[in-house]
Amino acid sequence: MSPDTLYPPVEPQRVALSACCPRCGRGRLFKGLSELKPACTVCGLDYQTVDPGDGAPIFVILIADFLVVGLALYTEITWSPGLWVHFLIFGPLAIILSLWLLRSIKALLIALQYRNNARPGTIDRG
Ligand SMILES: [Zn+2]
Repeated sequence: MSPDTLYPPVEPQRVALSACCPRCGRGRLFKGLSELKPACTVCGLDYQTVDPGDGAPIFVILIADFLVVGLALYTEITWSPGLWVHFLIFGPLAIILSLWLLRSIKALLIALQYRNNARPGTIDRG
């Protein structure tokens, strides 16, 4: 019996929001802020086979920049506050939003790779 059939499926959204293991839903994905653990401490799933690489930062740059720059432009056009207000509000907002999105999107990509059994490509040399 495969270890994948021992656990009920975990929804990718749940993995994204809680950063849990995509197979068992109980182990943790990250050590520290966004560094992947080598494997799940509960079910033993090897996380090295599901590393999303640079996929998550691209989405973070697109989404966080769109939101923060959009809000900053709206604020400037609507209220025209001083420059220090922009630094005080949108600097920390950009950092916090980017870090939260990085973890969430990285976990979501890992969950989707695991669910769809995606693997790095290999060359078949016959
Ligand atoms: Zn696990």
